[in-house]
Amino acid sequence: MTPSADISNLPGSSRAPAAQGSPTQGLSIVVPVYNEAAGLALLHERLCALAGTLRQTYDLACEVVYVDDGSSDTTLSIARGLPPTALDVQVVSLSRNFGKEAALMAGLDHARRGAVLFMDGDGQHAPELVERLVKHWIVDGYDVVYTAKAHRDNESALRRLGVRTFYTLINWGARQKIPEDAGDFRLLSPRAAAALRQLPERNRFFKGLATWIGFKQIRVDYEPEARAHGVTTFSPGRLLGLSIEGLTSFSVAPLRAASLLGLLLAFVAFLFGLSILWETFIDGKSVPGYPSLVVGLMTIGGVQLIMIGVVGEYIGKILSEIKARPIYFVAEHSVKNADAGAAAD
Ligand code: UDP
Ligand code: MG
Repeated sequence: MTPSADISNLPGSSRAPAAQGSPTQGLSIVVPVYNEAAGLALLHERLCALAGTLRQTYDLACEVVYVDDGSSDTTLSIARGLPPTALDVQVVSLSRNFGKEAALMAGLDHARRGAVLFMDGDGQHAPELVERLVKHWIVDGYDVVYTAKAHRDNESALRRLGVRTFYTLINWGARQKIPEDAGDFRLLSPRAAAALRQLPERNRFFKGLATWIGFKQIRVDYEPEARAHGVTTFSPGRLLGLSIEGLTSFSVAPLRAASLLGLLLAFVAFLFGLSILWETFIDGKSVPGYPSLVVGLMTIGGVQLIMIGVVGEYIGKILSEIKARPIYFVAEHSVKNADAGAAAD
């Protein structure tokens, strides 16, 4: 297990070639882990059992790719020690915490099998459900099998309103609608995984991209399990940040909203002007100017500032795309092949 610089994600270098083909190429299970030491061993056991079942039922060879996203606990050393029982085990350790989207990308880049399945490392995505997802792929021929929370009863009204607003905005005028409630727990067929690898952008919004690529997609409702341990790493503030990130990297809806708001304000100002003219010339009143001036100025000033902020978000996106930095760096990478013992690269 030697530390190695990974160049596969550098601009200009070609990513893995498009993997077309059949279930015989197997399945890579990508699991991003960030401070998941407490539940990792148990999750691995469940994945091993799953791999055994998949091999028996579909003759499907599996590997698991744990992407350690710069954990500060013992996650990495635990991951290194996991046995390759019934499936190959890859451990990719990123050089720092890059965030879940980057970790997913790292997993996708390192996946050696054809199909790719993404699942969380906290036990909320039940390995037992994977069999159903695989069936939709192999038996029914779907390319993208995504899961969605069956209901949001346990979430606050405010959060649900936020989610609704977010999806309405992001899907505004979009040809390929991003399904509301869809999660990151999803299976991609070999050609869908290859398509996702080809998307070059640095600002990843995984759910959006996986929908955007098209192909035959199917939804599977599921009941997320309780987190095996610890608390969610996504606080309301971080979720809001992620939403702005997703919106601005995926849709121009906020810019359109800006134009519409501008039009609306101009229209209101026009009517107001007409009413002043009316009052002055028809009614013969002298209109007091000061209060209406202040209100008008403040409204226009506020709206302009907000919209400059929106435009700024997009300029920031352009800047980070132009810098073309790698999405992540790999500090350490190890591979253990099932049955054949350990090998490092
Ligand atoms: N995660 C990650 N990097 C981060 C934060 C989270 O790789 O910076 C992983 C985490 O280990 C877990 C998954 O992303 O496997 C989902 O995180 P979490 O359970 O905190 O989110 P939630 O389920 O609440 O959406
Ligand atoms: Mg979770």
